[in-house]
Amino acid sequence: MSVESLQADIDLLRKQLNEKERALAELKVAECKVGDALTNEEISRYSRQIIMPEIGPRGQLKLKAASVLVVGVGGLGCPAALYLAGAGVGRIGLVDYDCVELSNLHRQVLHSEASLGQPKVQSAADSLRRLNGAVRVDCVRTVLDGAGAPAVLAGYDVVLDATDNAPTRYLLSDACVLAGVPLVSGSALQLEGQLTVYGHDGGPCYRCLFPEPPPPGAVTSCGDGGVLGVVPGTIGVLQALEAIKLVLGLPGVLSGRLLVFDAADCSFRSIRLRGRSAGCAACGDQPSVTRLVDYEQFCRSRACDKEESLHLLSDADRISAGALSEMLLGGEKHLLVDVRTPTEFELCHIPGATNLPMKDLGRPACLDALREYIRQHRGDPEFPVLVVCRRGNDSQKAVQELRTSLSDLSVSVRDVAGGLQAWAKAVDPHFPVY
Ligand SMILES: [Zn+2]
Repeated sequence: MSVESLQADIDLLRKQLNEKERALAELKVAECKVGDALTNEEISRYSRQIIMPEIGPRGQLKLKAASVLVVGVGGLGCPAALYLAGAGVGRIGLVDYDCVELSNLHRQVLHSEASLGQPKVQSAADSLRRLNGAVRVDCVRTVLDGAGAPAVLAGYDVVLDATDNAPTRYLLSDACVLAGVPLVSGSALQLEGQLTVYGHDGGPCYRCLFPEPPPPGAVTSCGDGGVLGVVPGTIGVLQALEAIKLVLGLPGVLSGRLLVFDAADCSFRSIRLRGRSAGCAACGDQPSVTRLVDYEQFCRSRACDKEESLHLLSDADRISAGALSEMLLGGEKHLLVDVRTPTEFELCHIPGATNLPMKDLGRPACLDALREYIRQHRGDPEFPVLVVCRRGNDSQKAVQELRTSLSDLSVSVRDVAGGLQAWAKAVDPHFPVY
């Protein structure tokens, strides 16, 4: 090897070394820029979490760059979005079709008396902007369905299922599997709450655990079963926690586990879930769900908690609230059966009504008492038995049931169309609506 060629090799190596050093220096500058990207105001605002080693300035920047979609701005979505905005998540999407009602305010903490009647997404967005003006809040006022979901979910890093119905649970699970984003799923009813994360780190999706939808009507809503506000409050805050952990890339995400919160004894239990199922139609090895479908049809139930008016009886088999009022005023012999729960009956009822809850209708002792009453009191051959409930749906089912069980008696069984809500509207404006 000549001296010249050795010198050329040395020059080449030096040049390569210089290039590497320059690249390294550029990286360091870039790193510095990332660190500097927090403004003094941001450093001050988020300081209590930034000084934690789990977050630091890099974590805060991740939160700032992150986008989280909250589907359902009710009891779960409100506290979740509140804490996401507080923590500085850069973009929060809100999806809800509904407007703010008085009965929402005990748990849906982003809404207020001033926002009654407003779309929930607007009311919630206003609250979030008041809390943190730097957060971008995007509102979508819709009942999310298979056709619209991909566009709504596009661009989000994490999705929160803060809804309360089966069609939306399947829709969001499938949509998140297809989009490859994790889904933080919460639920709350009465005194119990549940939480898990689907589609993360090899964990299951909703379909892995529930391949088949529940029978229609099997899922009780908060509107029917009731809920203590702090229960969705607790679960919603924890949904925000899991979303923040996912954004930060922290370990300990609630994947493959179900957290069950029992408010009655204030206990939290963590139940191990089955792992991802290789045969799952959505996230399995050979998925058959390759696009979103009609989930209301799939579940044979609605994707909103507005109860559909049933039409099980013909008009001739129902009387109006006004006709019932005339009957009561005229002193006509009858039996008015209120099929709501005893607690609801205690809350309000039409004077003279007898409480016989739906679940007791088939009990022999109750039927015997009913028969005895009818035998003692009836004057006309067609003694009228009238059934009333909250909205006029259960009462129709009860009429069908009573017609069968009382078929040996000469009674006419009809229901009060529209239930107590119709009574409040047409007869007694002072009657409470809940
Ligand atoms: Zn799956």
